[in-house]
Amino acid sequence: MQNLRDLTIQDMEALMREAGQPAYRAAQIFKWAQSGVGSFDQMTDVPKNLRAYLAERYTVTPPVQLRRQIAKDGTRKYLWGLSDGNCIETVLMQYKHGYSICVSTQAGCRMGCVFCASTKGGLVRNLTPGEILDQVLYTGLDAGVRISNIVLMGTGEPLDNMENVLKFLELVNHEKGLGIGERHISLSTSGLVDRIYDLEKRDLQITLSISLHAPNNALRGQIMPVNRRWPVEELLAACRSYTASTHRRISYEYALIRGFNDTPECARELASLLKGQLAHVNLIRLNEIEESPLKPSTPEDTRRFCDILNQNGVTATVRRRLGFDIDASCGQLRRKFEQNRA
Ligand code: SAH
Repeated sequence: MQNLRDLTIQDMEALMREAGQPAYRAAQIFKWAQSGVGSFDQMTDVPKNLRAYLAERYTVTPPVQLRRQIAKDGTRKYLWGLSDGNCIETVLMQYKHGYSICVSTQAGCRMGCVFCASTKGGLVRNLTPGEILDQVLYTGLDAGVRISNIVLMGTGEPLDNMENVLKFLELVNHEKGLGIGERHISLSTSGLVDRIYDLEKRDLQITLSISLHAPNNALRGQIMPVNRRWPVEELLAACRSYTASTHRRISYEYALIRGFNDTPECARELASLLKGQLAHVNLIRLNEIEESPLKPSTPEDTRRFCDILNQNGVTATVRRRLGFDIDASCGQLRRKFEQNRA
């Protein structure tokens, strides 16, 4: 049965027409669904016969909390079980300005980046809009906090599940739902160039993050198979077009891998690649995963890399690593759970 939380307000209005119900019921039910009620009987201002009609067609059952780990720095990591037995991970981080959540968009991933644990078992399936939303909703309820920022940086390639992701944005934005604005949401992509052009046409206010990780095709092609389809020049052309029409600054993610992409030459090459663009570089020391021999850069090389970018006119910062003691990154919890189950 379909998750009632998959339905946008328009879907809900169409459903009310089908059910021969007045239009105002749509907003009422949407609000209940998005508040996380666990049964139709809790919808106290909805008539009994309509509750029964909904219960025959939809479910409001929450995802099952399979694991919850809380790190010393307060970062929380959740493993959620979905209705079909698949599981996904979500991370909640606390910053000075509020709570930020990192959600998954697919169970597994098919991009094949060599440094990433999320892709090792391949793509299992796309998440529905409601399943993406549920991570925000039930994590917020469990932790008892108001979440202010969302990053689509968990497992999966958001632009490989674009329609559901766009519907999720609509759900989470709505004033009768969680009401989280586009400017508080970041979408990260490994670089599906055709979809970046599609996204540009939607004219959203979200922040686009590009997982760049290397300044040229020779290096990027070794760690990210997507680069063979869309090389760096085509990716950056799409990014320039995106900022020209949305006026939004793009974030470039760059995981520093020891001796591979962290040399001063790489930093200078990256600086000349991005110079003059509305861009920010987020540097992160690679998180080591069991399936790969790649190592993180040293803190000294990380600092030097960051300095070279800033000296050459490209703003860059080194991202703090949160939840380090709980495998809070890059699909490691889900991966371990799936391996133990097998
Ligand atoms: N598929 C999307 C979003 C999910 S990955 C994308 O590729 O952008 C979220 C971010 O974590 C990406 O920038 C990804 O490259 C990065 N990442 C994956 N594994 C990592 C690791 N082991 N260390 C550091 N960053 C990693």
